[in-house]
Amino acid sequence: METLHIIGGGMAGSEAAWQAAEAGVPVVLHEMRPTVGTFAHKTGDFAEMVCSNSFRSDDDERNAVGLLHWEMRAASGIIMTTADRHQLPAGGALAVDRDGFSQAVTAALRAHPLISFAEGEITELPTDGQWIVATGPLTSGALADSIRSVTGADSLAFFDAIAPIVYADSIDRSIVWAQSRYDKGETEEEQKAYLNCPMTRDDYEAFIDALLAADKAEFHEGETAGYFDGCLPIEVMAERGRETLRHGPMKPVGLTNAHRPEDKPYAVVQLRRDNALGTLFNIVGFQTKMKYGAQTEVLRLIPGLQDARFARLGGIHRNTFLNSPTLLDDRMRLKARPNLRFAGQVTGVEGYVESAAMGLLAGRMAAAEILGRDLPPPGPETAMGSLVNHITGGAEAKTFQPMNVNFGLFPPIEAKGGRRGRKDRYKAYTDRAKESFTLWLDAQG
Ligand SMILES: Cc1cc2nc3c(=O)[nH]c(=O)nc-3n(C[C@H](O)[C@H](O)[C@H](O)COP(=O)(O)OP(=O)(O)OC[C@H]3O[C@@H](n4cnc5c(N)ncnc54)[C@H](O)[C@@H]3O)c2cc1C
Repeated sequence: METLHIIGGGMAGSEAAWQAAEAGVPVVLHEMRPTVGTFAHKTGDFAEMVCSNSFRSDDDERNAVGLLHWEMRAASGIIMTTADRHQLPAGGALAVDRDGFSQAVTAALRAHPLISFAEGEITELPTDGQWIVATGPLTSGALADSIRSVTGADSLAFFDAIAPIVYADSIDRSIVWAQSRYDKGETEEEQKAYLNCPMTRDDYEAFIDALLAADKAEFHEGETAGYFDGCLPIEVMAERGRETLRHGPMKPVGLTNAHRPEDKPYAVVQLRRDNALGTLFNIVGFQTKMKYGAQTEVLRLIPGLQDARFARLGGIHRNTFLNSPTLLDDRMRLKARPNLRFAGQVTGVEGYVESAAMGLLAGRMAAAEILGRDLPPPGPETAMGSLVNHITGGAEAKTFQPMNVNFGLFPPIEAKGGRRGRKDRYKAYTDRAKESFTLWLDAQG
């Protein structure tokens, strides 16, 4: 039987190796550590947690990442089942003893009769055989160059520059209006592609004060900033001068407030649709290194966003990731070289759990292909399916940035009755997902 090769023994590669081997396919896991290190990893263990020791919320009824835990447990994922055995008290979160956890994953992989190991850096994308590339946000430079030579220079990013993403149903439509600058576009949809939040001079000055005073996160050691001028954090722009943002991402020109046409806004914050479903909007040009608590406070000063809920907050990190919506098919294969699958953070998901989940899918899909079967992804109403659907087509390719799992990625279910209704709706999402995920698993026998 053909062997599956996996590059990278992190969250995604470890899970992919486990899933494929459990399906009966021989695996070689290639890992460069400890011979070649990264600035964030400290050990030679598989599935090392590079920073926090938390897998976030474990609430599988009302939280999207908790639901993803549930699906990974249902699929006998090594990451989740090992995390459960090394759990530490952490309220509703799943936190683990990091060393115990990664040592146990390493021991389980090493004990598996179908998994063997090759230590060392892979410097070129292989041309033959079945491979999964799961080299993560810190993919080594030589391999990144090789990926760029196949995918094109613009298709692999080295930093994320994440603007905050807002749930569409938390934007106050009595304040914002839909209009593209100068009504640009051929169709009405294009002419109304942006939502605009108007600011008076007082709003703007208060916003700049709050921005300058906000707590900012530092870069990790070894993670040099290297900002490109096109993606400066908003607070850095504000530090360059109080008017800089008003001449940059907050410029008011070419826009007329549809609710109060006589009022000329002093500044405007624009929101742009972030997914095909239209459930998520990103704040255009608002990448930031503000700490999360400060971010929500400052962003809710924007008129129209006073009650905003955030599907993800902004950030800038060292992060190697593909423009997956254009490059990968829905079986996670590189369209240009279908013998190569990608998995984990390098596909543009964000976080330990999401990365491991993409490893789980890629491992199962690659094993199915080797065994002569085709495995479609789970439906978009599941947590795993919503993520893979987002990265392989649901997201806007032009502005693609890494994404956490969140209910905004799911096909909507209508809520009634405000906050209470939202809680019921989340339960409806997770009930629907569990049923669908169970059917997907059952179909695999
Ligand atoms: C500094 C930092 C802090 C982070 N903090 C958090 C956090 O607190 N919580 C969270 O959820 N997520 C965090 N993340 C994101 C985190 O990296 C991912 O969530 C997760 O580890 C990604 O899993 P992965 O399997 O895709 O990559 P990784 O877990 O990084 O695994 C990739 C593996 O590939 C190996 N590799 C790379 N290139 C090659 C090569 N050419 N040949 C062979 N092997 C190679 C690496 O050594 C590594 O073991 C952080 C990321 C960084 C960079």
